[in-house]
Amino acid sequence: MTVRKNLCMRAYGKINLTLDILGRMENGYHEVEMIMQQVSLYDSVQISEKTDGPAEISSNCPWLPSDGRNLAYKAAEAFARATGYDVPVKIRIGKYIPVASGLAGGSSDAAAVLRGLNILTKAGLSTEELCKIGRDIGSDVPFCITGGTALATGRGDELRPLPPMPDCRILLAKPRLSVSTPAAYAEFDRAKNITHPDTASCIQALEHGDLAALAAGMHNVFEDSSPIPEVEKLKQIMKEHGALCANMSGSGPTVFGIFTDESAVLKARAACRACAPFVFYCRPAARRRGG
Ligand code: ATP
Repeated sequence: MTVRKNLCMRAYGKINLTLDILGRMENGYHEVEMIMQQVSLYDSVQISEKTDGPAEISSNCPWLPSDGRNLAYKAAEAFARATGYDVPVKIRIGKYIPVASGLAGGSSDAAAVLRGLNILTKAGLSTEELCKIGRDIGSDVPFCITGGTALATGRGDELRPLPPMPDCRILLAKPRLSVSTPAAYAEFDRAKNITHPDTASCIQALEHGDLAALAAGMHNVFEDSSPIPEVEKLKQIMKEHGALCANMSGSGPTVFGIFTDESAVLKARAACRACAPFVFYCRPAARRRGG
């Protein structure tokens, strides 16, 4: 009897503690500088061997593509191309990170497939080698492979690990609207009055384990170039309920608030639920051991 292998990976979401755009690179990509933080909200990605045929994707989310447009599928193809280990697999995604929300759920699913296939096939790729495959799938994939806290530069795929974010409570709230990332970059290119985050002071705050100083320096330039009233409202609610800061993640529209006090975050969660369909309370996630 053939014993088929399967394993279940956690694909953690991320928030941008800072998000700055420095200009355009020669290859046409925007040059970014972002402090990325993985959070404890995750999708589950179950990978099971099957006898033959192309990768099969399914999920609990009816509108998520289950063909070659799914980033998990792209990751399975890219892994086979890069390593020659073309193992037929079924991938079942338990989607809990809201789609197109600025939390890098799709990139994280792709990262989980790359890490999972590396384990399943015993291909023995290093974290750097997995990141090299991942960056062609999406700029956020390398960070989703390494996790923890990192400074991302270039087009977001050049990573420098940073000291971990001090433990805290993170409230995520996604308003009922979608943001197109290319449209957000186009708005940025037209925008005039941009306040840039103080990335250096945030890195210093991480080095000193100073959560208040970190919160004081956080900023996302997309909030200047594409202000969204629903985002502003959620930020205000979180601040009124004691958040040290409240910012938008990625190109939005998810807002995250940083709290130190358990009862404050619970009250803020209840207040945000009145105007946002997705509200979730989580914590910073640590960098993966060995990578
Ligand atoms: P980022 O913060 O990296 O910009 P995001 O959170 O805004 O990412 P995702 O949830 O990663 O966005 O999804 C972006 C797009 O990718 C959506 O249009 C979605 O249809 C597509 N997509 C493909 N595969 C997946 C997947 N496994 N999970 C979520 N979205 C996926």
